Amino acid sequence: MGFTLLDERKARDAVEALEKEYSGARYYLSFSTPIDLVAAAIISAQTRDETVNALTPALFKRYRTAREYANADPEELTAMIRRVSFAGAKAKNIIATCRTIDERYGGKVPDKMDALVELPGIGRKTANTILINAYGIVEGIPVDTWVMKLSSRIGLSESGKPEEIERDLMKVVEKRHWHNLAYVMKSHGKKVCQSKVPLCSKCLISRLCPRNGVTRSG
Ligand code: SF4
Repeated sequence: MGFTLLDERKARDAVEALEKEYSGARYYLSFSTPIDLVAAAIISAQTRDETVNALTPALFKRYRTAREYANADPEELTAMIRRVSFAGAKAKNIIATCRTIDERYGGKVPDKMDALVELPGIGRKTANTILINAYGIVEGIPVDTWVMKLSSRIGLSESGKPEEIERDLMKVVEKRHWHNLAYVMKSHGKKVCQSKVPLCSKCLISRLCPRNGVTRSG
């Protein structure tokens, strides 16, 4: 089956309709400070938001600064997040990342993309997430699995690579929507454009969407 890429006008209409429908969509992980967000974002890989949000209050109470995480006992930190997948590796990444933040940036989470993506366990998606939600700096669009899936189905990007998808989206999505596009798409994915069987008959953009890769729909 071929792939249909939406033209720019239809792409803008589709995104505009979704933005309007899910105007209340917000970032889903709880945090108070940038360092909380770094820890929560590392823990959240391949983990349900509810699981992350259930365990982070105790974590944020135990470790308040980059230095406290940097000096954490790996076993204790791993035990605190043991309910998530790859807990040991994530604990190691949190400690290594916070050590760099403490030593190189005086304990302040960097507010530059180049600096963030050099930290262990922080890719471009997480860096965008930190910039947007901790600092209100919008440089790009966080591309998570929902954004990847929906961008393909809707015909906003033909690529399977997050960085190329981000580039394609930045061409067709107005900048004022970049900060919450991932959360809008996630809301639509959970409610309507569901992973296994999307509910196309109930979808507000069904007339625009080419439904790339959809073999069964409700
Ligand atoms: S539910 Fe169907 S029509 Fe709506 S965005 Fe998903 S694939 Fe497209």
